[in-house]
Amino acid sequence: MSKEKTQAELLKEKLFSQKKNAYHKLSDDEIKRAYDVCEEYKSFIGRAKIEREFVAETVKLAQKAGYTEYSQNKKYRAGDKFYCVNRGKAIILGIIGKKALTDGVRLTAAHIDSPRLDLKAHPLYEDKELAFFKTHYYGGIKKYQWTTVPMSLHGVIVKANGESVSVNIGEDENDPQFCVCDLLIHLADAQMKRPAAQVVKGEELNILVGSRPFKDDKASELVKLNILSILSEKYGITEDDFISAELEAVPACRPADIGFDRSMIGAYGQDDKVCAFTELKAILDTENPEYTCLAVLTDKEEIGSMGNTGLESEYLRYFICRLARSFGVEGIDVLSATEALSADVNAAFDPTFPDPIDLANGCQLNYGVAVTKYTGSRGKSGSSDASAEFMGRVRRLLDANGVEWQTGELGKVDAGGGGTVAQYLANLDIDVVDVGVPVLSMHSPFEVTSKLDTYMAYKAFRVFYEEK
Ligand code: MN
Ligand code: MN
Repeated sequence: MSKEKTQAELLKEKLFSQKKNAYHKLSDDEIKRAYDVCEEYKSFIGRAKIEREFVAETVKLAQKAGYTEYSQNKKYRAGDKFYCVNRGKAIILGIIGKKALTDGVRLTAAHIDSPRLDLKAHPLYEDKELAFFKTHYYGGIKKYQWTTVPMSLHGVIVKANGESVSVNIGEDENDPQFCVCDLLIHLADAQMKRPAAQVVKGEELNILVGSRPFKDDKASELVKLNILSILSEKYGITEDDFISAELEAVPACRPADIGFDRSMIGAYGQDDKVCAFTELKAILDTENPEYTCLAVLTDKEEIGSMGNTGLESEYLRYFICRLARSFGVEGIDVLSATEALSADVNAAFDPTFPDPIDLANGCQLNYGVAVTKYTGSRGKSGSSDASAEFMGRVRRLLDANGVEWQTGELGKVDAGGGGTVAQYLANLDIDVVDVGVPVLSMHSPFEVTSKLDTYMAYKAFRVFYEEK
């Protein structure tokens, strides 16, 4: 028996914001599609835990989809697809559109670096007959979260003769793993009185790598010697080769479904690989777009986008200028007409820790992809505050194409804060706003996202690319 709605109820429906869990809006078919896309996502990030691996796996998928390596001497036509790798750690994928380049590019940018423990230049040492690697953490972490977690080692070693060796150890079930030890609770009275930021200090993030001495009873440092002997045999390296290496220790856990209902994903490095993968899949699924599309997968966001593989550098501008030059137009005219989505994650509301998020403005799991007008700290410091016009434009685009979305903000005023690459895109005179997936336990070894939100990020990037 349906009761007739009162005038106030009808008016409320018309005037009030109607925020709703996306599960109550989507068809079973679409929910199934979302879960299917997330299977691809889990498999991909299980193979691509660090930026170099993400680039290598992206090149494989791109080549399969008909992308070829970008050449500035080639004449590109509408529909042509290319990729351009920056130093093995960042990549730009592109499809030439039907419209002129000076009508602007549809650009999305996500980062493929994540918090981790990097090895120092002289990492290996022996202490009381145990061997360790010294590390320097990369990105913002709660250091205590990174102890007693199984770790794997990824990266590259450039040997004295210039030869480069790839390292990936700890992911295969037959591989050994590594870990940072923590003090047993029984003897931790003094440690537990340290402030949380120092419960485990940076110089205490030492990775246990061995305990068995080399068979010889005369020399000293026999455990270290034994490790170097194993590394020499496996990789042909000596101790000094660590100086020219980039080795990253990351959690060895596999991406997994979370919850009895399998509605969520738990994995290392979802900030920002969840946006990087969905952006990648969106461009790979796009054919013959109106506008030229670029998917930027960048490095170094977690340390302020510094360095020549990060978006604080000029590499993206140079790329667009070279592309413009090959079409006989000015790079700055392309940039000024370009629109971008800064594809980065946002903090999902956690009911166990409700204090730092104002839920009316923050984002929560299963409410769709989050559109974040501004990030920053304190008085929006360090934020690219998207214009009302561009927010309006993105809002209309998402609504017109059935993308479930919600607003996001990076915490309550004065709760802390952070930034994204949006500001570096804005520096290029590009209109940009942050669009990304809400994450629980961000920057921890095991981050959690919702499958529906992940799918909605993919859908958002795709409709942006495919807009007529
Ligand atoms: Mn991020
Ligand atoms: Mn981050």
